[in-house]
Order: sequence, then structure tokens, then C-alpha cells
Amino acid sequence: MNVYDSDLVAGILSGSGYVKASSMEDAEIVLLNTCAIREKAVERVINKFSQYAYMKKAGRMKIAGILGCIPQHSPERLKKELPFLDILAGPDSYHKLPEMIEASLKDKKLHENTELTHTQNYEEVLPFPENSFSSFVTIMRGCNNFCSYCVVPYVRGRERSRSTGSVLKEVRSLVQRNVTEITLLGQNVNSYYSNGTDLAALLNIISGVEGLKRLRFATSHPKDISDELIHIMANNPKICNHLHLPFQSGSDAILKRMNRGYTREEYLSKIERIRKAVPQIAVTTDVIVGFPGESCEDFEYTLDLMRKAQFDNAFMFIYSERNGTEAKKNFVDDIPRKVKTDRLKKVSELQKKLSLEQMSHETGRIREVLTESVSKKRKDELMGRTEQNRTVIFKKIEGTKPGDYINVRIDRAEGISLFGEQVDKGVGGK
Ligand code: SAH
Ligand code: SF4
Repeated sequence: MNVYDSDLVAGILSGSGYVKASSMEDAEIVLLNTCAIREKAVERVINKFSQYAYMKKAGRMKIAGILGCIPQHSPERLKKELPFLDILAGPDSYHKLPEMIEASLKDKKLHENTELTHTQNYEEVLPFPENSFSSFVTIMRGCNNFCSYCVVPYVRGRERSRSTGSVLKEVRSLVQRNVTEITLLGQNVNSYYSNGTDLAALLNIISGVEGLKRLRFATSHPKDISDELIHIMANNPKICNHLHLPFQSGSDAILKRMNRGYTREEYLSKIERIRKAVPQIAVTTDVIVGFPGESCEDFEYTLDLMRKAQFDNAFMFIYSERNGTEAKKNFVDDIPRKVKTDRLKKVSELQKKLSLEQMSHETGRIREVLTESVSKKRKDELMGRTEQNRTVIFKKIEGTKPGDYINVRIDRAEGISLFGEQVDKGVGGK
């Protein structure tokens, strides 16, 4: 989402005559877009930007700014720790950046805008992404779910959907620039709704764009996945067989205190329904360990759910207490650090095993791959992704290049990657 937002800022600034610098060292204006979801991210931003203080002092860097959720969440902390900052802008203020920069260049003072409008959708802005065959399109901003641990509703405001027309316009402009794979983004894309169009209808409309070959969407919320969406995934060939469905915890008691709105049985039965309707689907997830009050038994339920759900891959996090959230107000962050890290290690080890099991089922199959780049390790090999979003490293047929859709025979699985050999030149995509 922040990759997309940074491209949005690039679109706004290029509209005012600014040009992207080729490197940090060449830039006169440096803006760092940030995430406040966990404390670690905040610490990293402060450390990283402190290192640039000397560039600001040397005079080459005329403007140093921090954008996004950290200025929204902790502006005072940033001002204290990084006193040389010129710009602080929250997620609803990006369109004000040109005037903020102008003003700061003139008066050399800090310009700050962290007003949350709860309505800003940047409908009129065309983002300025790097050239790629795959791109993101944000279809909604903010979140109304208020999961008790999460800072997003406070830093990004209430949920709102972009108009179908502006989403479609953006998709068409990307496809004209040779993008063939698009991922629609939102904190909870299942609640997309604009003038009678819901997510299922939006997916159908966008998949009709000629030249677009793959359509993805993230993130889904287990309580909001509709049967209609499952039906569309099963029947519309452009919609990729991959679902990112965070479960967060396998314990009903913890899920309740997280305010997630579903039980473990409901989650597992959704997975079962989806797998039945879309047998080729790959499911990925997010999980938090060490939520306040998480007992050994609660944690065992998490491991058990992972075994039952058979995820392809998981983003695994240690609970990080956030100011302003209900969890911080109502619960004590009582799980010792050592227990948290042990639990993280356990979920990581289990997921590693489960990922390999899932990947191993692919051996011997022929999969269509969108080629992304030359493999990091071997120049004669390419890297790409299947529609299940699995990474494949393969020996290429001469002439194959990034952007091509080709078929690969999968020979083996290692970690979370597949390895194989290209079997034909292919052209068409899905
Ligand atoms: N809207 C998406 C993702 C939100 S943030 C969703 O609901 O799934 C991405 C992930 O960060 C979450 O799924 C959650 O696993 C994790 N996360 C959010 N807040 C956190 C916190 N306070 N501590 C640790 N992990 C957190
Ligand atoms: Fe945060 Fe929950 Fe909203 Fe996701 S759905 S952004 S975890 S509040």
C-alpha cells in the first residue's frame, strides 16, 4: 500500500514540475513514506533518517520530509528525534505537498499537515509507478474494523471506496503502459462498495479490460468473504487463484479480544468452502503471536489452525503495543519478550515445513509463469510467479524476457520457491 502511495506522491509532485532523482545522493528533496503498524517500523525510520542528517547539513538536501502513518501517529516524537525535518504529512495530505514544499523552501520552517479528512481518495491523481509488468491499484482507503491491536483506523481514518470509474481509468492507463498484472489494494477489499458496485462486480468489470491478463486483490477479511466472490474466483479465468486471508490467531478467546468478528471454526469452514470451489487456490495469511493474555493453550490453537489450513506462506508478527488502540487501553502487554520470540520461532518453523509441503505438491506440474527478472544467483535463469503467487526460478529458452508469460515444468521445491525448466515460448497469458 505504501509502494502505491509513494507512486501517488510521485504523480502529485511530477504534476507540479518535480522530477524523480536517480538516487538519494542526487535528490534535493527527500521524502520518506512510512508505516506505523509496529514499533519496529517506527524505530527503523528514525534510525535511517538520522543517518541523513549530515546530508541536510551539507546543504545538498534542501527538503527532508516524512510522510504517511508515522507523522500521523507520532508527530511530536519525530520533531524531537529529527529536528532538521522540513515536512511532515499524513496520509490524507499528499495533495498539499507541492505548496508545503514551496513554503518550506521560502521560510525554511517545518510545515506540517496531519489532518485526517476521512474522505480523501485522490480520485484525480494518476500515480507515477516505475515501469513494470505488474502494478498496484488502491481501490479503497482507511478501515472501519477497529481490530483491537491495530493502529490503521486511527492513522488512515474511516473506510471509503474509490469510484469504479476512476479505478477503471487507472487500470486502463496502466495496461496502455504494458502492465498485464494488477493487484487491487485495500485494508479490507471485501467491503469495497461504490454506487452499487461491490468487489465481485468490480473484479468482473476490471477483468474485462483488454490486455490485462492477471487480476489479484488484497487484503481480504475472513468475516466479509462472500459466496459470490468465491464463485467469481472459481469462474473468471483472469482472477488469480491466490487469496491472502489473515487469521491472526487460532484461539477463539484471543480472536474475540482482537475484535476480529469470526471464530476459528468459521475461519476454517471458509477455507474449506474456498478450497472446494477453487481447488487450485493458494492461501496465504498473517498471524500475530504474544497478544495480551495469550496462554500456552491459545498458542497451541494457533499452531493447530495453521496445520489445518495448510497455508502456502505466512507473514508472522510479534504483538506490538500501539498507542491509541483498544488493546493498549484495555489489556496489559503481559507476555514476556522471551515467550513472544519463542512463539514466533515456533510458528516460523511450522510454516516453513507447511510451505515446503504445499510447494512439493507442485513437482511435476506445468505452470504458467509471468517472468519478472533475471535470477539473482544465475544469469541464465529467470524468476517469475505463477498465478498462485508462487516464486519460480527456471532455466529459460533463449529469447525469453521479463514480461513474458511462459510455461515452466516444476522439478523441485526448496523453501518457499519452486525450481524448473521452461517448456515453451508461450505468449498469451491467461
Ligand atoms: N488490513 C489488513 C492488514 C493490516 S496490517 C488485514 O486486516 O489483514 C498487516 C498485518 O500486520 C495484520 O494482518 C497483522 O497481522 C499485523 N499487525 C497489525 N497490527 C499489529 C500490531 N499491533 N502488532 C503486531 N502485528 C500487527
Ligand atoms: Fe487493522 Fe483490522 Fe483494519 Fe486490518 S482490518 S487494517 S488489521 S483494523
